[in-house]
Amino acid sequence: KRKEKEMRILMVGLDNSGKTTIVLKINGEDTSIISLTLGFNIKTISYQKYTLNIWDVGGQRTIRSYWRNYYEQTDGLVWVVDSSDLRRLEDCKMELDNLLKEERLSGASLLILANKQDLKGALTPEEIAKVLNLENMDKTRHWKIMGCSAYTGEGLLEGFDWLVQDIA
Ligand code: GDP
Repeated sequence: KRKEKEMRILMVGLDNSGKTTIVLKINGEDTSIISLTLGFNIKTISYQKYTLNIWDVGGQRTIRSYWRNYYEQTDGLVWVVDSSDLRRLEDCKMELDNLLKEERLSGASLLILANKQDLKGALTPEEIAKVLNLENMDKTRHWKIMGCSAYTGEGLLEGFDWLVQDIA
């Protein structure tokens, strides 16, 4: 059992997947005033009895190489997928595979959020799991996939509850 009540969570995923909107939503903020994540945002939020330091790192191709600067002491990874962007799912799979090869992230619990479930044509979490080949994940990794919508809030708390309990 960990003593500290602080957890460091890294939000990652391709650009436009909904990372910024999700952080605002679980923090109860207005989601209509966000701008593109160019560098990164750090948010400290209270969640249950924990303090979550959430690092939302931009996902555009040109800045993905900077993700590794944020890996130290990461307790939890939230990988956000735009479930409606079928065209970029291969890219998404490749980036996730690369991320999970990182030695410094080997102990981090992984929550995969299949976001934008409110959109017609969005793949289900089961379908996303198949494309990302999650069944063949390293056996030591703690992971879970959850369908969600940052617009309606559906699935978000269930996902974060799992993550926080898994880290605790
Ligand atoms: P980021 O680049 O990963 O931080 O993505 P953003 O949070 O900036 O979101 C990218 C776009 O997707 C914005 O236009 C959001 O309003 C939209 N978006 C985010 N989450 C959802 C969702 O759950 N459903 C729908 N329909 N759109 C979303």
